[in-house]
This record gives sequence, C-alpha cells and structure tokens, in this order.
Amino acid sequence: MNSRKLYMISMVLVIASLVLSACGAPRPVPTAAPTQVPTTVAPTQAPTQVPPTPAPTSVPPTAESTQAPAAAAKVEPLYMPRNVQAAYDNGTRSLDGKPGPKYWQNKAEHNISLTVAPPSLTISATEDITYTNNSPDYLSALPVRLYLNVRRPEAQREETKTADFLNAGVQIDEFRINGVVVPWSPLPGSPLTAPTIGLPLPLAPGESVQLSFKWHFDLSPAYKHEGAFDPTSFFIGYFFPRITPYNDTDLVSAVPGFDTEDFTYRSGREQFNDFADFTVSVNVPKNFVVWATGDLQNPDEVLQPTYAQRLKDSLTSDQVINIAQPEEVQQGKVTAQTDSVTWRWQAENVPDFAIGLSDHYVWDAGSVVVDPATNRRASVQAAYPATAADYKTMVQTGKDVLTFGSTQWPGVPYPYSKTTVFVGGGDEEYPMMANDGPEPPPLPGATVRFIASHEILHSYFPFYMGIDERRYPLFDEGWTTIFEYLFALEDMGKEQADAIFKAVRSGNIVAPISGIDIPIITPADSTRGRVTSSNAYEKPALAYLALKDLLGDEAFKAALQEFMARWHGKHPLPWDMFNTFNAISPEDLTWFFNNWFFESHFVDLAAAGLDKTNDGYAVQVKNAGGFAIPFDVQAVYADGTTELFHQTPRIWKDSTEAVTVTLPVTREVKAVLLDSGIFNDVNAANNSWPAGPAQDPNAPVIAQAKNDTGTAALTMTLLPKSKQSGPGQYGMPSGVTVVLSVLPASKTPEEAIKDNATNFKVKFTDSDIVAAEPIAGYPSKVLRSSVNLGGVEYGYDSYAFTTPAATYQIILLVQYLPAVETMRETTYPALLKTVVVDPQ
Ligand SMILES: [Zn+2]
Repeated sequence: MNSRKLYMISMVLVIASLVLSACGAPRPVPTAAPTQVPTTVAPTQAPTQVPPTPAPTSVPPTAESTQAPAAAAKVEPLYMPRNVQAAYDNGTRSLDGKPGPKYWQNKAEHNISLTVAPPSLTISATEDITYTNNSPDYLSALPVRLYLNVRRPEAQREETKTADFLNAGVQIDEFRINGVVVPWSPLPGSPLTAPTIGLPLPLAPGESVQLSFKWHFDLSPAYKHEGAFDPTSFFIGYFFPRITPYNDTDLVSAVPGFDTEDFTYRSGREQFNDFADFTVSVNVPKNFVVWATGDLQNPDEVLQPTYAQRLKDSLTSDQVINIAQPEEVQQGKVTAQTDSVTWRWQAENVPDFAIGLSDHYVWDAGSVVVDPATNRRASVQAAYPATAADYKTMVQTGKDVLTFGSTQWPGVPYPYSKTTVFVGGGDEEYPMMANDGPEPPPLPGATVRFIASHEILHSYFPFYMGIDERRYPLFDEGWTTIFEYLFALEDMGKEQADAIFKAVRSGNIVAPISGIDIPIITPADSTRGRVTSSNAYEKPALAYLALKDLLGDEAFKAALQEFMARWHGKHPLPWDMFNTFNAISPEDLTWFFNNWFFESHFVDLAAAGLDKTNDGYAVQVKNAGGFAIPFDVQAVYADGTTELFHQTPRIWKDSTEAVTVTLPVTREVKAVLLDSGIFNDVNAANNSWPAGPAQDPNAPVIAQAKNDTGTAALTMTLLPKSKQSGPGQYGMPSGVTVVLSVLPASKTPEEAIKDNATNFKVKFTDSDIVAAEPIAGYPSKVLRSSVNLGGVEYGYDSYAFTTPAATYQIILLVQYLPAVETMRETTYPALLKTVVVDPQ
C-alpha cells in the first residue's frame, strides 16, 4: 500500500468521524481502521460443523426425485422452465452437470475477404461459409445473423440513437447455395437481424452446406461497439453474415430450434454465436496497420523487415516493445508499399471475429507466459492514438491481466494466443480483442486499466465458454464483474477496490427501482433498462462472491474450474453451472442458488437484540432484504476496543429471515454493528444495537474542526438529506467528501492551499490559486484542480481564508464526474455560505 492510499484512508476516516459525530447517530464504533481489527470466525459458523452432504443429494432434484432427503432441511428444487427441462429430458444435458450423451452443436468455417479504404466508410466483402449440421434434425431453413441490420431505421433498439447512427445495414449483393446463385429473398416475416433463407433440400444430420455471399455495408461514424472512430481509424465488429445457433432450448422461435431473437444493441447483452473457424483477408491501402482476432499469417508480406522483426521479437520477449510510431507509419516505413496490402488472419474455434485498423496509431507489443506448466506465451498488443497517453502502459496492463486470469481467477491458462487493446471508443470485448475508449468512461474509479481488465477478463465468459449473452448475462457480465473486482483487489488494494465496486457496481441495487429485485435467472431478453444491468452485473457478481465466501476459495475455485472444463467451447445453461457446483462441492447448494438466482431479494440487515448468555453474547440479526449474504458482526467492548466476527452466507441456510449469532467472548460487549461491506445495505441506519435515537431524515449534518490548541474552530453545515441522493447521502451526490482544518494564523491562505495541494499530489502553478467568494465574511482563495488518488480521479477544490485568530481551510473532494463542474457552480457556493468561524 503506498502513502497516497494511506493518506486517502486516513482522510476517509476523518470524514467518517465528522459525519458520525455530527449527525447524532449512535457511536458504537471507535474510529479505528477496519484493517486494524482482528478478524475471528465464530465457532458456530466453522465449516467443519457442516456435515458433508452425501453424494446422491448433490444432484438437484428433478420432477422424478422431489422426495426430500430424510432429516435434511427442506430444499426446494431449482425451478426449470419447460424449454430447459426439455433439454434434460432429451439427453442433450445431464443433471450431473455434464453435457448430456446427446449434446451437439453446429459448426461453421468462414472464409472472408474484406476490402476497406478509409476514409470511405464502405466495407465490401466476399464470404464462404461451410456450415455443418451436427444436430439429429433435418434443417430446412437457416436464419442468417446480420447484426448490423440493427442500424436500419426500422430495427428494434434499446437505446435512443441520433440520425447518424442509422444506415442501410448489411446489403447482400450476391448469394449462392452450394455454388449456385439464388435470389437473396429471406422468408417473409423473418427477423430483421436474422433474415431466414429456405434451403432447396433440407440439410441432413452430419451434412454440410456451403453458403456464399458478396455483401457490403457502410461503417458509421456514430460508433457504439463498432464504427469509424476517426476518419482513418475503424473498428469493424459484428460485421459478417453467419448462421445463428441451432440449439436445444429455443424450441419456439421464428425458426423453431434457432436463436432468432432480434439484436437490439444493448451494452452487456450482446450476442449468441456458434463456435467457428475463420480465415480472413483484410485488403487495405498501404500505410494502414490492421489488428484482428486470431494470428497474423503473413507478417513478412505486410510489414517491412524491421517491423516484422520487432513483432516477432515481442512474441518471445518479456519487454514491452514499441513496434511502430505514427510518423513511421505515415512515412511509409512500416507496411509494404504496394498500393493495396492484404493482411491474412486465422482463428480457430472462436465465437466471433473483429478487426481494428488505422494509419496513425501507436503500436506496442509484448508477451507473457500464460501457462506456467508448458511455458506457453500469449502476445499482448495495444493500438492507440498518440493523444491517448494512458495507453502507453496498456501492454503491461494486458500482461498483468492475462497473468491474473491464468493463475488466479478463474485460474485457467488464457485460452488464446493473443489479446489486442484497440482504441475505437467501444468499451467492448471481442475474442482476443478489446475495443476501448481513449479515456475511461465517466464512472467513479474508472481508469483505462480498470476498463481493459474487465474487457480482457471477458475472454473466459462469454468467449471461451460459448455463452448466450443476451439471455444469460449472469454468466458473461456476472463472472467478469467478480473477476474485475478480484483483479482490482490485488491491483489497488481492498479500500480502493471496495470503493469502486460500491460506486460502480453494487451501489446500483440500492435504489428502489421498479423491477430491480426480479430474480437473476429471469431471461435477460425478457427484461430491459436498469433491471437488465442489475441482473447482469452486480447481482450475479455478488452471488458469486457470496458463494466464494461460503465455500472458501479452494472449493469455490475447484467447482468453477470443473464447470469451465466441462463446458468450454460449448453452450452451457445456468442449470449446468448450478448442477456442476452441486456435484463438485462438498455440500448441496440448491438452497443458496434458489435464494440468489430464483427469488426476489435485496440487501438489508437489521440488528434486533444483544443478550448475555452462558456462552458469551447472542446477537439477533434480521434479514429484511432476504439475500444470503456474508457479513461481519463488529463487537464493541466496554473499553472501546472492537473485534470482528465474520459470518459466511451458510448462516442463512435454515432461515433467510432471522438468525442468532453467537459471540463466544468473555469480555463485556456494550454494542454491536453489522457490516455487509460491498454488499450494499439499503438501510444501514438499523445495523447497530443498541439502536440509536431515531434520526430526522431532514436534519442537517454538521462538520467541525478545531486547531490543536482549541483556540479556533470551524463549523460547516452540510446540506440536508435529499430525495435525489441515495440513503446516507446528504444533499450532494455520492462520493463528496469534505475536509476542514484550522491552521496557525501565521500561515497565509496561499501557503495553506499549497501545503495541501502537495499532500494530495495536485499539480498546480501559483497562478492557479485565485480569489474566491468570501467565506464567513472573510476574503478567500481557491485552487480548483483534479487529483488521482490510487487510480481514482477526484475533483479537488481547496479554499482557504484567514481571520485574526487563524487560517481556515476547507477541501472539497468529489470523485470526478461531469457533474463536478455543475457542483462548482451551484452546490459549493451554497455550502460555503454555511461556514461558521468561531475564534475561541
Ligand atoms: Zn462486460
């Protein structure tokens, strides 16, 4: 932990104590840092006391086996929709969690030759698809997935788009079946993004058909996950015709058996594709560099020798190598100098293929061992405009993330030969590629490293695991969000990782939005808006974290890795995951999966009593929200010291409504506090016992500071609680912190501001310190800047003023959002008017 983080923590504690002392809340907790508190586990929760469940019950009960095991707590079998039940009945999936004896999936080989010549936005291509029917059925019609038809004006979309987003979609110029030209005439009524063609003869089981296309489309400058990022930097994704997955659960669809759900272009609910092999040629003018999914087949043809050698060197080197600078590319030194250059790529068994290209990007590369057992290395590349300064360290970021994914979580060697992070504005994942923005999105705590870690860790879910992302984002976004958090824990420490998770992720489940508590298992193609996001990202990530806490890291990882080993390269359903965890874990987890995935809950604990017993103390805990969450009971002893007693979610196994926690202690406990950490409690006001006096929700909060000798004091009234802000927030948006200090009168406002700016690592010049509105009637100075504290960008405003008694300083810090500028204009002046100076 570096000094900046320590400073940040101490600052947060100062603020926490200010708020506690000011708002009239009970003060059961001395302000010792949580990390200084010894953690113990109450013996009643020790894993050894949970009897291992006999193997037969680890298979979730089905309709045939619903008789509850004798003497066990009643466990409701997991609900199974009829279309899912059919897959198990038909033997394509097995209740032991493995693929069934009749499991199949269809496979395609794509041979694509694509021509693009920026700044023309038109992409044109020829494509041959060899599609093999591995199913037991005769297929008489094939839905052709044309994702980019979502840009046609009449398409269904889930977000409002500007006119420049719209275009004509994918235009099929020629179509052949087994070499014979046939009219491109999709069946009437077939979905816009899955136009369906009838076959002259049904495709028999085990047989292949060749479909050939000539097609073109216009890339849009209104990019989302693909598009023209600038006139000569394109990210080409979702672009080619392919056959949608024929599968065992889409029993009733526009073409029964096929996924024909329209693509609505929503972040976090992207695609569902079969695995395919790709041979892709990208024809570009000279001096364009191309990056893509898969392996470059002809570096010596497309690159001049120096640059081809640098690329080769990067594949075996631990160093980060700059392959090319924009000037070298533009001076004609890097690519072959024929008018047109054809970059040839190959990728096998991937569910998608994407391409980035530019004539003015920096190109860095390196590589890292991703399989320590075999010393297999993976290439890491970054392609970015020189103005995206944060990307100078992106190859190192990629190497760190691949190492983390390969050796820690999920702890499966990175399954591909390469990853490339390309700046194309998307913040979106593709197999072996991420298309990210030049700057992080305006989210608290987001850095390009943080965003890239998320996109790269998506390599496992959805790509390696073949996830239907539109119906079950609990897999791809859920698992990636827990991996992102676990990476952040290691990368920036618990304080920072928790702060980001609460702000960006679990903070979203606090608000009582209509539908927000709908069970996670609800097919995401039946939900929309915040409900979809919450069920995709934060709720499943919390479910997995709770399960990790319940099982312990070793058992949790063993079950996760077994699930991945069984299902990678296939199309698992959530029930395959639940069944595998039940089969591999030492206990039946059906109650847990029911609670987290199949029921409507939220997070709200309440302390309801504290009694002396023969064994120590009994703490009554109510679970008003209902989720089986882990939490800590913090005991406050008579002498003011504290101790944490961690409870795993197993405590809720017999009742998710209320439990008694035993504290096996002999010392006098005068108060307890329940803390669920990043499991954001919607009402933290009832988490302590004895309960404090009822709080007036409209009461203002007072912050105070005195100097060392107590001869001067400063008081500031924070704004009353506002309906616009979340629970526990006062007036200003989440993340605002205030620091008050009283300094010796010998210090001038300028000196005070400079001292603190140095403490906060704020870059400034003397001319940045300017006169501000009077505070408490005294002229003041202000420095407005921003500061990066442990990877989080804060808006930093430091005001200082001097009275005859002392110099006073107020520092306002807010996690950097566009709203900061508005706050500087409106909220801050109102706040500063509430300052009271008290020379004593
Ligand atoms: Zn994601």
